[in-house]
Amino acid sequence: MPKPRRKAGGGGTRKTLRRSGSVKRSRARRADWSSTLDEDWDAKDYDPVQRVMRRDERDRRRRIEEAAVESPPSPDAAAARPPPAPKTPASAPKTPAAPPRTALVTAAAGMSARVYVDGEERPATVRGLLTEIDDGFINPVAVGDRAAVSEDGGGAWAIESVEPRKTVLARADPFLAPRKQLIAANADALLIVASWRAPDFWPELIDRYLIAAGLSGIEPIICVNKADLIDDPKACEDALRVYRRMGHRTLLTSAVAGTGISDLRDALAGNLTVLAGLSGSGKSSLMAAVQPGLDIRVGAISAAHRQGRHTTTQSALYRLDGGGWVADTPGVREFALAGLTLGELPIYFPEIDEAAAACRFSNCAHLEEPSCAVRAAEMSGDISPSRAASYRAVFDELEV
Ligand code: GDP
Ligand code: ZN
Repeated sequence: MPKPRRKAGGGGTRKTLRRSGSVKRSRARRADWSSTLDEDWDAKDYDPVQRVMRRDERDRRRRIEEAAVESPPSPDAAAARPPPAPKTPASAPKTPAAPPRTALVTAAAGMSARVYVDGEERPATVRGLLTEIDDGFINPVAVGDRAAVSEDGGGAWAIESVEPRKTVLARADPFLAPRKQLIAANADALLIVASWRAPDFWPELIDRYLIAAGLSGIEPIICVNKADLIDDPKACEDALRVYRRMGHRTLLTSAVAGTGISDLRDALAGNLTVLAGLSGSGKSSLMAAVQPGLDIRVGAISAAHRQGRHTTTQSALYRLDGGGWVADTPGVREFALAGLTLGELPIYFPEIDEAAAACRFSNCAHLEEPSCAVRAAEMSGDISPSRAASYRAVFDELEV
């Protein structure tokens, strides 16, 4: 079965899913599904204060982050750094001393960035002109962007323009609506890391990430980690089979025992891969196993300081020796359902859509209706109960 894919910003196949009035549910629509999750599930990265902080506090933090990305790695200077100098006005860009070259953006915070050019990472500023392009995103540049960069002859680099993006991962935020925050551009793969135990395997999260990957046109790879903690091999095999049957690539790994690490390394090679998964599922450990010395917990900002005192709030790319990049993106948990419409739901649950053809009512929502073929398929084992549960949870959330 082909994977559900949709190009970023593209239309994709649209189906109309009519709702049955008799099964209308009373639960209110939730704009942000992450609010339904266990509060601790990604506590490492989640800063609830940020959602309600005063505007000037936000601006202050943003200035600090920008300064951190563009600053030289001097601890003392970092502590007493003044706000960044005013940006070059968009109307009077500096004349580049050399023709622009293509670079990869490896970190980005507002108007400051780091770019990989000529085999080295360098700080760069973003030309103000780029903020005037209304492409629906609040940030002009994201990790993974291919950019034309220039150097002024004195070692200062600037991002002049950004190439069209192959894929886009973006985060919807009520504060920013209708615009979104770009999380990563041009990702080839989304590595969904789910531990079997500690924290427990949670298929609904995988199903939500699969939707995010599909909406963005990014290939999902499902990586079940902590294989050394598997108590019931059959249950794990059954869980993976659900996704293999859908045509998804799956990996079974243990960062501790070394299981599946070479397969993971192969899967990452040559690609730009975004990491997703609960905090504690083993993302950092897996990356260190793939490439000794690779520490994704350092983060873009603290990497700029070469010390770990600053909280990581920025996305960053890490280069793999074998070719390719991995992106650690703190905002990753919130992008899942951004932009999904009820009518598109069948695309992301193809096995449920297929079974639904035999439901007694053409507008069956597969909840409590009589003669529902989806429920029957669930009972007979043709449809995974966890997938059906995810379908219902997402359906419930998209309801208006
Ligand atoms: P992250 O938050 O996703 O980056 O997860 P970490 O890599 O920090 O791992 C969280 C905890 O799980 C750490 O204590 C790791 O040592 C542990 N861990 C990671 N991978 C494995 C694994 O394959 N097996 C076991 N038993 N523990 C693991
Ligand atoms: Zn039905």
